[in-house]
Amino acid sequence: MSIRSKLAWTFILLLIFGITAISSYSILFIRNFLLAEGEQQIYDDAEWLALTIQNLPADNRFETDLNEAAVISGYRIAVYDSDGEIFASVPYDEPYDAPSSLDIDIVDMIRNEPGPLVQNRPESDRLIAFVSVPGIGNPAQYLQISQLKDEIYEPIRTIRWIIYTGMFISIGLVILVSVLFARYMSRPIVQLEETARSIAEGNVEKTLHLNRKDEFGTLAESLNRMASRLQKDNEELKRIYEKQSQFFADITHELRNPLHTIAGALEMLQMDGLPENQKKHYLNTATRQTERIHRLFKDLVTLQRYDSDEHFIEKKSFNLAEVLRQVFELYYPAAKEKGIDMKVETDSHQVYADPNKIEQVVDNLVSNAVKYTNSGEIQIVSVRENGQVRVEIKDTGLGISDEHLKRLFDRFYRTDKARSRDKGGTGLGLSVVKSILNAHDSDIEVISKPGEGSVFIFKLPHAFHSGSSER
Ligand code: ADP
Repeated sequence: MSIRSKLAWTFILLLIFGITAISSYSILFIRNFLLAEGEQQIYDDAEWLALTIQNLPADNRFETDLNEAAVISGYRIAVYDSDGEIFASVPYDEPYDAPSSLDIDIVDMIRNEPGPLVQNRPESDRLIAFVSVPGIGNPAQYLQISQLKDEIYEPIRTIRWIIYTGMFISIGLVILVSVLFARYMSRPIVQLEETARSIAEGNVEKTLHLNRKDEFGTLAESLNRMASRLQKDNEELKRIYEKQSQFFADITHELRNPLHTIAGALEMLQMDGLPENQKKHYLNTATRQTERIHRLFKDLVTLQRYDSDEHFIEKKSFNLAEVLRQVFELYYPAAKEKGIDMKVETDSHQVYADPNKIEQVVDNLVSNAVKYTNSGEIQIVSVRENGQVRVEIKDTGLGISDEHLKRLFDRFYRTDKARSRDKGGTGLGLSVVKSILNAHDSDIEVISKPGEGSVFIFKLPHAFHSGSSER
């Protein structure tokens, strides 16, 4: 049974029970009230009739007058003499089999009673009153008047009809209101259930707006929050999955090129009679490509370590100037060969970081500067700034356009794929730089203009005392 039907039936049964109970109680109450009123009435009338009959003369008009009193009062009247024997019973036209003689116990009771004696036996359909009549002009001693109980209950017929009609109209209304109310109450439950089922089936973009300020409204909001959270998680998972797929596709692609070149070189080397200089050329090519694959795996392993091992960084205090100078010396010959003027401007700065990883950062940035600069100069600068050391690798090289800047640090992202590969690049250098700096709670910034050059900037915390962890 649906929740709507359950609610409707509960309201209907409860209200029908309530209405029926109230109606029955009202009818019972009115019945008892009418009977009590009837008893009081017959008591008063018995007293009044006794007084009237007491003074009636015992002539031939006695019974006629008695009959008139019965017709006017509406009671059946029976008159008994001092022996308790009946000697008149009226009205004539309504024969009433009053007992021919009064019960001795009743006679005793009437004598001892100062007023009338009202008798209401449940098994009798009549309400009876007895009263003693000390007859002055007639032999009447006891009077019995009676009335059918149905006559007393007469008004209740109309009342009962009104109550029953009201009851049925109320029940009809109750059914209608209950069905509407149950629908109103259950509508949000049904909507919530439908939405929850739909979300469970994967329609996380589904939302529910109940416009209610009660618990249902709160529940709908929670459901919406849950759905939007799921949606976000789903999108995130999708994004991670796409990134992962792209990453594997890139690795495959990156490996295919050098392997292809190596295979070609080996094929050429197998040829008979290949001149010595050609042999040297193909051996060099194969060696360069092998080194490239080696670098690729090294970078991949480094990145993987950053993804999974947060203790990969081992920080200590060291002189950054030394690292910068080492890298400078390493690339100076290559720069000079390209006709590039390379400088290093640095004071002695103690920084708190992992020296090997920072060397890798500077190495990657300087090697890129050399790779992507054809003329002009390259500067390696470090300055102290607000408790930090700011490092800049500036070049007057190719520069990078805005469209590439956003994705520059993505894995395998290159502004010019052919040129990068040509220069032995893996497309992972800047990702490694970013990962290392992020692991130091730092980041890399780049300012660049195509044709003018680029500046790569990062900051490291200054170590105030050698070997201390103070920042
Ligand atoms: P790669 O191995 O290709 O050098 P990186 O991640 O180090 O990979 O660099 C990504 C891309 O960013 C490079 O392919 C190049 O297009 C661009 N890039 C990096 N450094 C510079 C620079 N100093 N000047 C111009 N372009 C640069």
